[in-house]
Amino acid sequence: MAGVSSKSATKRKIGEENRSYQEKWEDEFCFISGHKEGTAICLICRETVVGIKWYNLFRHHKSKRSSFTEIFPLESNERKNKVANLKLKVVKNIPNFKMMNGGHLQLF
Ligand SMILES: [Zn+2]
Repeated sequence: MAGVSSKSATKRKIGEENRSYQEKWEDEFCFISGHKEGTAICLICRETVVGIKWYNLFRHHKSKRSSFTEIFPLESNERKNKVANLKLKVVKNIPNFKMMNGGHLQLF
């Protein structure tokens, strides 16, 4: 009866630690997928964040854009309109982006 547990295989399941861009981040953090894999572009300041992780985008949005969510609360119509507007500007100003049906931006 040895008290040694046989938990040799540590099952580490770190949530959704994948590095792929998720479309919901458009509304949540105002980020769109960037030109290079693993990058995302902030719709507001057009800064590129390298290393797509929820936390990286969260941190950028929180530290630089904390007032954005105050002015445009999550899931409000104001926010939806604002994000749609920002996306239109990006489509105009950054080549290779196209607006898809449903309003998401896609790189070409
Ligand atoms: Zn930004």
